[in-house]
Order: sequence, then structure tokens, then C-alpha cells
Amino acid sequence: MPRTDPQGPAAADPEPPLDCPICPRLVAYRTANRAANPDWWNGPALSFGDPDARLLVVGLAPGRTGANRTGRPFTGDFAGVLLYETLLKTGFARGTYAAHPDDGLALVDCMITNAVRCAPPGNKPETTEEAACRPYLTARIAALPRLQVIVTLGDVARRNVLRALGQKASAGAGGHGARCEAAGYSLINSYHCSRLNTNTGRLTPAMFEAVFETARSALAG
Ligand code: SF4
Repeated sequence: MPRTDPQGPAAADPEPPLDCPICPRLVAYRTANRAANPDWWNGPALSFGDPDARLLVVGLAPGRTGANRTGRPFTGDFAGVLLYETLLKTGFARGTYAAHPDDGLALVDCMITNAVRCAPPGNKPETTEEAACRPYLTARIAALPRLQVIVTLGDVARRNVLRALGQKASAGAGGHGARCEAAGYSLINSYHCSRLNTNTGRLTPAMFEAVFETARSALAG
């Protein structure tokens, strides 16, 4: 699939330094978490997966007791269980997910990242923090030479990806299953695999699996 180079903020390294100083509020939160839990990761969650991936999964931000604790995206909190089980089921991962970065799980043709790399208080980054971290998202996308499909977990992640690609955040429809083309990539949106969405039935395992089956079909097309 042809693609254009993403437009947007100045390119950066695709992964931030572990002591990235850019967002004062998130740095303060990181510092407090380090003091309270010095054995945790307590740094930006680095992207995880295949550097030749054709599929990129983009969440919003690490959870305090998930990636902020373990250092691997979606690892150690509730959302990761459904995400990794679904990736295993749809052939985008192999091994066993055991909620630990040393569980041997490997992603296949897939990478996972977050629009904001540092854990925010209350799981809610501010728009200024999304903008500040966006060069890393832009660079992450640009550094995947075979990338074709981006699955976004929630509308905020979707808007961040669109902006990272130099598009208007309003480009395309939101909502579960919404698809659009942007800068040569196919974007597929899903409801976030959060505990709230799964416990309320807003997102079922079957709905989530269908998103990745759609991604599989888009790759084959
Ligand atoms: S959220 Fe991104 S830009 Fe902000 S401090 Fe963390 S890594 Fe740096």
C-alpha cells in the first residue's frame, strides 16, 4: 500500500528518553510514583512489538499500575488481558500473556504504542500533554517501514493519530468500528478495552476480536 510521509510536528526519535522532561505535570507524577514505588518502571512506556509491523495499535496513555509499573504497554492492568488475548487469538501475537514483561509474549506483524507515553493522573492526559508527546507518535509511525493499518483504542487515541498524520482530528467518523484512510494508512477505531467498557458490555470480546479480524482483512487486501 502506498503511503505518504506523515506531516506534523518536528520529527523526534520514535521513543522518548526515560527521563523525558517535557511535561511538568507528568514528570511530577512520575517522580511521586518513583518515591512511592521505587521498584516500578516509572518512566515513559516504550513501544512494544515487531519493528517490521504492518499493524500498529495505539492506546491513549499508560495506566499507573499497568505499563507505568511493568514498563510494557498494556501489561499488568485489566485492559491488557483482553488486548493480548485478542492479539493471540487473531494471530498478531504468539506465546502466553502472563502480565509480565518477561512472559515471553511476542507480537507478530504488530506493534503497540501509546499516544502519550507517560502515565497521567486519573488516566487522563491534558491536551497540551497529548500535543507535547505527539512528535514521538509521528516518529513512531514514520519509523515503521511496512506499516499499513493502525488500530486506535478509543476516540481520543484516534484523534491523536490523525493529528500525528497531519490530518484534522475531525477527519472521518469516530465510534467503534469506524474506518478511514489517512496519509496512506487504514485507520480502524475500537472502543477502548478498559474495565469500564468491558464490564458494562459496551465492548464485548467478540466486538474487539472483530476489529482485529478487520485489520487482518485490510492487510490482506
Ligand atoms: S508524555 Fe511524552 S513528551 Fe510528555 S514527558 Fe512523557 S515522554 Fe515526554
